Parts: sequence; C-alpha cells; structure tokens
Amino acid sequence: MSKKGRLIVITGPSGVGKTTLIKKLLNNYKNDIIFSISYTSRSARKDEANGIDYYFISKKEFENRIKDNRFLEYALVHDNYYGTDKNQVEEVLLSGKDCILDIDVQGGLNLMSKNINAIYIFIAPPSITILRERLLKRYTDTIDVIEKRVMNAEEELKEKDNYHYIILNDNIDKAYNELKTIIFNK
Ligand code: 5GP
Repeated sequence: MSKKGRLIVITGPSGVGKTTLIKKLLNNYKNDIIFSISYTSRSARKDEANGIDYYFISKKEFENRIKDNRFLEYALVHDNYYGTDKNQVEEVLLSGKDCILDIDVQGGLNLMSKNINAIYIFIAPPSITILRERLLKRYTDTIDVIEKRVMNAEEELKEKDNYHYIILNDNIDKAYNELKTIIFNK
C-alpha cells in the first residue's frame, strides 16, 4: 500500500495571516499539498469564489450536512457555520499528498479531542492591537464584526499551548520560513 499523506492543521485568530501563509505554501508546493476547501454558511466576499476559497452553502444545507455526518469537524465561528468535509480530506490523504486545513482554534481543538493524527500549528499575532489594525486594513468586515473577531482572538490565544507548534507572525517571510521548516524540515 502506498503511504498516506499527512494532515496539517493551521489555526490562529482571524486576521493573523493564516490564509496568506497557506496560499504561499500552496503556490510553492502544489504537487505535494492540497488545500481542504471548507463549507461555510457565510456569504462570499467580493474577491472570493465558490469552490476555490469555500463552498458557500445555506445554513439549512449546512445543517443537513451535519445530520448526514459529512464533517470531520465543524464550528460556529462569529455566527456562521464552517466545516471540514470528511471525504475531501480522506481522498487527499489516500492519494499520498498532504492535506492542509485553515480552521479556527476550536476546530483544531475539536480534532485533537477526537485523536485525529495531524501536525497542529498555531499562528499567533504580535499583539491584539496589531491584529485589530490588520483586520481594519483588510476592509472586508464591518466594525462590529471586527470587534467580535478581536474579542474571540483574546480567548483563542489562551489555547495556543495546546498546539504542537506556535509561529509568531510578526513578519510574513520569517513566519513562512518557519512554517516550511516545520512541514518539510527544510
Ligand atoms: P473567514 O470568515 O475570515 O473566512 O473565517 C473565519 C474563521 O473560520 C477563520 O479563523 C477560519 O480559519 C475559520 N474556518 C474556515 N474554515 C473552517 C472550517 O472548516 N472549520 C473551522 N472550525 N473553522 C474554519
């Protein structure tokens, strides 16, 4: 039997730079790592496409998928559902490639509690103030949503020591190099 791929879980507060780091990794290692496209009940942002960034579905459809046991994990994040599709992940791992998840902190803890074998990586911001500035600069959310994300971030940071690795993202190139070293030992 050929070797199964590894599951790589990337987590950290919203706005910390997870997506940027993952996109960089996927650009450089497209033959080795596949991104697990999550399902979400939130609506698409201007620059997002269905089937690329997420599968955008209704709340009702999401709840049907929960009932049908289609998720490896799912969470209610900032009032919207987000979930990892079980089959998608399994197919990637069986193909021998690594599968990378961009999920929230509770999603990662949920996988740990189910003893899912993975490399668990937490991306941390230099400070809450800098995180808020980054969310403001992103122009993707209203002030209310940003404040909610910042409040969640304070709680999420308390969980970082449960992860195998913590990467401080105070410089994107430095953080990327650390991520590469953790994953490939180079
Ligand atoms: P955003 O709305 O900014 O795209 O994502 C909000 C948060 O949901 C981010 O922290 C992101 O990592 C997380 N997220 C995205 N997909 C999933 C998923 O499938 N499961 C969980 N638990 N969180 C997810």
